[in-house]
Amino acid sequence: MELHKLSAIELSKKILAREISAVKTVEYFLDRITLLEPEISAFNFVFKDAAIERAAEIDKKISDGEACGPLCGVPVAIKDNINIKGSPTTCSSKMLKDYISPYDAAVISRLRDSDAVFIGKTNMDEFAMGSSTENSAFKITKNPWGKEYIPGGSSGGSAAAVASGMCLLSIGSDTGGSIRQPASFCGVVGLKPTYGRVSRYGLVAFASSLDQIGPFAANVMDCAELLRIISGYDFRDSTSIDSALPGDISSRIERDIKGIKVGLPKEYFIQGIDPEITQSINKSVDILKGMGADIIEISLPHTGYALSVYYIIAPSEASANLARYDGVKYGFRADISTDTLSVMEAGGEPSGELLSIYKKTRGEGFGPEVKRRIMLGTYALSTGYYEAYYGKAQKVRTLIKNDFDEAFKKVDVILTPTTPTTAFKIGEKVQEPLQMYLSDIFTIPCNLAGLPGISVPCGWTKGGLPVGMQILGRPLDEETVLRVAYNFEKIARHYARRYAQHYGGTLYDR
Ligand code: GLN
Repeated sequence: MELHKLSAIELSKKILAREISAVKTVEYFLDRITLLEPEISAFNFVFKDAAIERAAEIDKKISDGEACGPLCGVPVAIKDNINIKGSPTTCSSKMLKDYISPYDAAVISRLRDSDAVFIGKTNMDEFAMGSSTENSAFKITKNPWGKEYIPGGSSGGSAAAVASGMCLLSIGSDTGGSIRQPASFCGVVGLKPTYGRVSRYGLVAFASSLDQIGPFAANVMDCAELLRIISGYDFRDSTSIDSALPGDISSRIERDIKGIKVGLPKEYFIQGIDPEITQSINKSVDILKGMGADIIEISLPHTGYALSVYYIIAPSEASANLARYDGVKYGFRADISTDTLSVMEAGGEPSGELLSIYKKTRGEGFGPEVKRRIMLGTYALSTGYYEAYYGKAQKVRTLIKNDFDEAFKKVDVILTPTTPTTAFKIGEKVQEPLQMYLSDIFTIPCNLAGLPGISVPCGWTKGGLPVGMQILGRPLDEETVLRVAYNFEKIARHYARRYAQHYGGTLYDR
């Protein structure tokens, strides 16, 4: 049986029905990782022994007739900025290279309760800052659709792992597009939930008012199921919303979309978008029209400010969040003299020498993009500039949010391309941070406004690269977002070409 061609929901049913054991399932996916990982480099860590051990426990549960959770024996990969007790959480940074998590993130506890099996931690841009996964301190992940291409970022490892069938489900985080953009570049489904829907407890903070954890899957139904499992109120996250996703989300999203109002914001259909993307989006709009959706042109007039606002707010919050990596509390510490060490251990005041420890540790521990963000953010927050930059950016953020509120009075969802281009080549944008930042131009407004958004495959370029379509919804209305995506996928069937034809043949059939 080719397990990587099943949906996660089918796979868990087969395990539960004892058609295949959880151990055999995990071994199957570990074999695929052995085969494909040398070419893709999606994982920072693969949990071979722990995964088999956990699978054996699940098999025992099933044979003992105990109740089993909805992800019964399904392997799930986790982005390496989410804590799993007893395992490394590196954020693909030298700063946390040897850090072992002392506790489980909220999403991890939920996944454990659903009897998922953690297969490994995935590569990412350092501290989730980036759009190509090239900012990882450890390795470059390749796009499963062509090894000369980046998989997108910052959750590039999680997207590539699902796209190559090394697992069926994975978890990422999205601050400005880091789930939707790599999902689009790798031809998989990725969803950023409403801010507050999924607990951030145990996610290493980048920009706390924007960060959300979310699911990757090969199809919309699996994505909905994974979202249902990881979402819900958590008292340990002060921004957690006490409003559960409907338990019957899967049957609700099967309802047709006749009369659903789909908004096309004119600010997102601008010059400079890859014409093959425009073509795919136009075709997709026709498909939705054919299914009875009403297509309505709308305007989100402050869209043009979103990128600038994001690059003030995100670095400002990052500069505060990353202050904790000082070589004293935990994580990497640069080599320092033993005299200085004893002053520190005695709880001494920061002397000139102690300050030089901070500097040396942060200088050696962080990569160039992280340093750039810390400098930008520290500047924007400094006395005299705070109001002009951070304060102003927050005000414009409100205007962007108001645009969406107005639009959602007229439409139920908003449809846009996920990205202005398809996956770019490795190395193409590393020297040009501004070009790199532009690749998130369509995903960022959704984070600033706290909305739910999905990217779903909607076409292919002539060169064989996937194109993604973004669907945004009202706060807490993941249901309609998923419903439109599910109905679209059913007709468009882009998942049928899910696995790459590159790498000298089809990855799918290997
Ligand atoms: N690419 C964006 C950035 O570098 C978004 C990253 C993210 O969503 N984590 O900030």
